[in-house]
Amino acid sequence: MITLTELTKRFGATTAVDRLSLAITPGRVTGFLGPNGAGKSTTIRMILGLDRPDSGTALVAGRPYRTYRHPLREVGALLDARAVHPGRTARAHLTAMARSNGIPVRRVDEVLDTVGMTEAAGKRAGTLSLGMGQRLGIAGALLGDPGVLIFDEPVNGLDPDGVRWIRELMRSLAAQGRTVFVSSHLMSEVQLTADQLVVIGRGRLLADAPIAEVIAGSSLAAVRVVSPEPAALHRLRDELVARHATVERVGADELLVTGSTVGQVGDLAHHLGVRLHGLSAREASLEQAYLELTGGDLEYAAPTPSSAPGAAERKEAR
Ligand code: ADP
Repeated sequence: MITLTELTKRFGATTAVDRLSLAITPGRVTGFLGPNGAGKSTTIRMILGLDRPDSGTALVAGRPYRTYRHPLREVGALLDARAVHPGRTARAHLTAMARSNGIPVRRVDEVLDTVGMTEAAGKRAGTLSLGMGQRLGIAGALLGDPGVLIFDEPVNGLDPDGVRWIRELMRSLAAQGRTVFVSSHLMSEVQLTADQLVVIGRGRLLADAPIAEVIAGSSLAAVRVVSPEPAALHRLRDELVARHATVERVGADELLVTGSTVGQVGDLAHHLGVRLHGLSAREASLEQAYLELTGGDLEYAAPTPSSAPGAAERKEAR
């Protein structure tokens, strides 16, 4: 489990992470979303002991990452897959990692097999394709058989096969009871992979909830009610409005209700004796819900290259 308490990091005048408190729990995939510059990478770097918080704490299984003698056995991370010595073979890279972390060297062949790299084990890291480099990074993350896995933008630049492979791997790691924390800016990918969603903007927590709940919270989420009795539908509308729902009359026989669940509307219709021919949820997309959550932060945190060329390039270069 990963526990963040009032975690804060400043770079000069910028507060990159602002009193972030969160518990990222085992057995599920937690997606970590936010606009560019929201503070995702900085948060991950603090969890991994690569950046020091100005205040607050980031604990992995109850302790700061830096206090572990063999951290790879606790946390596996994929940050920048290119951060591998280009002249080393995949196997030599993993063997060196295993040795310095007290991990039996036989694990190397196991993880090479897990990521489908047995054939490419003798290739130099510098000659690997982007997808293979990504697999090597993941092999390194799995090497210590850790209970916590952190992936920063794992599907960037991958082809559809690679994307699907990573998605299935993350789901299976969570199913094994591990904590899986994945940052991404790809909404559709997160919707397919994650159970829980954490959204930050300007370093602050905007949402921490199951994906279904985040989607249901969108203003576009609504309940459709169809009845063959216009007068009864009218009564239902009045009662819903009295209960602070927002009701739109779509036609003589249909209402669109926001601010109530399907269950609440159905129960009320039953109570009022309103005959229904239809009762259904209209779902919003995760993208819509996300845009509503981060709306105020998009412009501020992600300037377009024309308005702030330096910022965008710096980001790319890192
Ligand atoms: P994200 O990963 O969500 O895109 P980052 O954590 O990279 O966000 O950045 C959060 C904010 O902190 C941004 O405003 C970014 O410019 C700033 N920042 C990140 N790292 C540094 C650094 N090493 N020096 C100065 N500013 C930084």
